[in-house]
Amino acid sequence: MVRSVFPDTAQDLEVVLESDAKRMLSDHRIPTTMFHVASDVGEAIRCAEKLGYPVVLKPLSPKVVHKSDVGGVMLNLLDADQVHHAFGEIMASVKHLDPDARVIIQEMVDPGLEFIIGMTTDPHFGAILLSGVGGIFTELLEDISFGLIPLKQEHAWRMLRSLRGYSVIEGYRGQAGINVEALLDIMLGVSRLVEENPQIVELDLNPVIVHEHSATVVDARMVVNRGHASDPEPVATGA
Ligand code: ADP
Ligand code: MG
Repeated sequence: MVRSVFPDTAQDLEVVLESDAKRMLSDHRIPTTMFHVASDVGEAIRCAEKLGYPVVLKPLSPKVVHKSDVGGVMLNLLDADQVHHAFGEIMASVKHLDPDARVIIQEMVDPGLEFIIGMTTDPHFGAILLSGVGGIFTELLEDISFGLIPLKQEHAWRMLRSLRGYSVIEGYRGQAGINVEALLDIMLGVSRLVEENPQIVELDLNPVIVHEHSATVVDARMVVNRGHASDPEPVATGA
């Protein structure tokens, strides 16, 4: 969803692996799927058994950014045989892109409302938070709301209410029920994470799955500017 505002020629931008992005989110108390990383099929099965079935397998590689595009997302795997098979399929589809690709094994989150929370860097306004309801609302209707970081709770609320897709949120609320407060907590958590880590230039949490009692980040793509930390602001020498 987040379109880069940076030229392709920029040298110091790096896409962070899903596992590392999720660790950083968890460190900031943003709820993500539990996961393990494995390099071979035996390890993948051991990880799946540790997590408990059903599980999800996806490729983990800096060369594979959009995992579904390469047929790499294997959902709802119910036993060791299915993990074995999925591991083989994933490796077969990504090894020409990255022979060192690994897999990430994660808990399968129950279906719920799929929401998107992103962050991008605007050349004029700086860090900006984006939010929208997943699926056609963001992809076809471009129904996305924006807010400046640091974000306050009232701004986060306003962002949600200004979405055309807000009726979907309300509908879910009335029907099965979704936890809007959990969604707001993630938006505010992302705002804090980005404030504390100015090297983050893009973030795409797509989707965040929202339920009656919780909201969980299921996929995370982060872009950092590696030049940032090693390139401190020039110190004013005074005159
Ligand atoms: P990508 O966006 O790189 O193609 P995702 O990790 O977003 O890959 O997976 C694609 C879709 O699969 C998601 O939009 C979501 O619907 C589903 N999905 C992915 N991981 C999980 C999970 N752990 N639990 C439930 N559904 C998932
Ligand atoms: Mg995704």
